[in-house]
Amino acid sequence: MKYGEIDFDTYFKNYPDKNGYFGKYGGAYIPDELKNAMDEITEAYFTICKSSKFINELRRIRKEFQGRPTPISYLERLSGKLGHVQLYVKREDLNHTGAHKLNHCMGEALLAKYMGKKKVIAETGAGQHGVALATAAAYFGLECDIYMGAVDIKKQAPNVARMKILGANVVEVTDGLATLKEAVDAAFAAYSRDYKDCIYCIGSVVGPHPFPMMVRDFQSVVGIEAREQFLDMTGELPDAIVACVGGGSNAMGFFSGFLNDPVDIYGVEPLGRGSALGDHAASLTYGSEGIMHGFNSIMLKDENGDPAPVYSVASGLDYPSSGPEHAFLHDIERVKYDVVNDDDTIDAFFTLSRLEGIIPAIESSHAVAYAMKLAEKMGRGSILINLSGRGDKDMDYVIEKYGIR
Ligand SMILES: *Cc1c(COP(=O)(O)O)cnc(C)c1O
Repeated sequence: MKYGEIDFDTYFKNYPDKNGYFGKYGGAYIPDELKNAMDEITEAYFTICKSSKFINELRRIRKEFQGRPTPISYLERLSGKLGHVQLYVKREDLNHTGAHKLNHCMGEALLAKYMGKKKVIAETGAGQHGVALATAAAYFGLECDIYMGAVDIKKQAPNVARMKILGANVVEVTDGLATLKEAVDAAFAAYSRDYKDCIYCIGSVVGPHPFPMMVRDFQSVVGIEAREQFLDMTGELPDAIVACVGGGSNAMGFFSGFLNDPVDIYGVEPLGRGSALGDHAASLTYGSEGIMHGFNSIMLKDENGDPAPVYSVASGLDYPSSGPEHAFLHDIERVKYDVVNDDDTIDAFFTLSRLEGIIPAIESSHAVAYAMKLAEKMGRGSILINLSGRGDKDMDYVIEKYGIR
């Protein structure tokens, strides 16, 4: 299928190119010592990860350990309320550990094992990526260092406990504001010192090449399963698909299964409290081209051109940029990116819980809220939502801040 200039029949052969570019976005803007480390991972990815041995081992793990394939559920009561549009959800909340993040963490850790590495390292903000990676490290018997700001360690006690129970080493970072940015810097510094023995596992389709490509490919299992399951359930493709976009990994894996189909694709960004800079994290909607964390993409900048402060009720979405492939799909208009605010998100959180018995993650609730609005606009047809995770982690916060709605 052609979309403007881009032929999606051959898309995955051409995007990214060999330097990691999706059009002008992507690349690897990193110091020389890290370039060697990234080249080593790229090389290993194209040899090891394309071998049948690796592919078969990952398939077995997906089935026996992660519990894949995750099902698609038809939302009968919610669809009934919204008129003549049929809504469905792909249940990544039922993936082991309760979200899609384990899909790429198992791939990255398996690659680390095949490369003969002893340790995986990463940073974490809210702790979700840290928990998923600690799970993968425990499974493969790898050491695991998770860098986390001191402020986040205090706020995210249950996830810190999970990581420790799983055997990970949580490294407290006290520099600067002691949150995610400082944790990224500390983790990268540690990696530069020690990359012979370890591999840095990035938590989304962001960072320098090859991570946007590699994380997309490990997440593509979601889109491949969803397309096949939906055809099997209904005999047709969905008219529209919807996913939330933070860094963009759940969305990219899900979208990749449908890029070459006549399906409308929507990426939903967090509008938070409103459209003023600092009140949201809708980077593709309000941002402009720029480089951060080793890649060129669309980002939210402050008056000095540095990454701007961002906010969302969903801690997994408050990142000032998104993966380079999203920036590319945004510019060629293959995917429509739009926003949902905190308030509509919390409404959707309760609506899905009450009508369907599924408590969604606040991140995923953004996609549900958007799909409900889209259903009203469409009037008829079908929408498939990627439910990226479950909401157990968010319950205390929602009850305390919003009460029962
Ligand atoms: C981390 C997280 C996200 C956001 O990450 P992406 O890379 O944008 O997918 C979304 N949903 C859940 C449940 C998460 O844990």
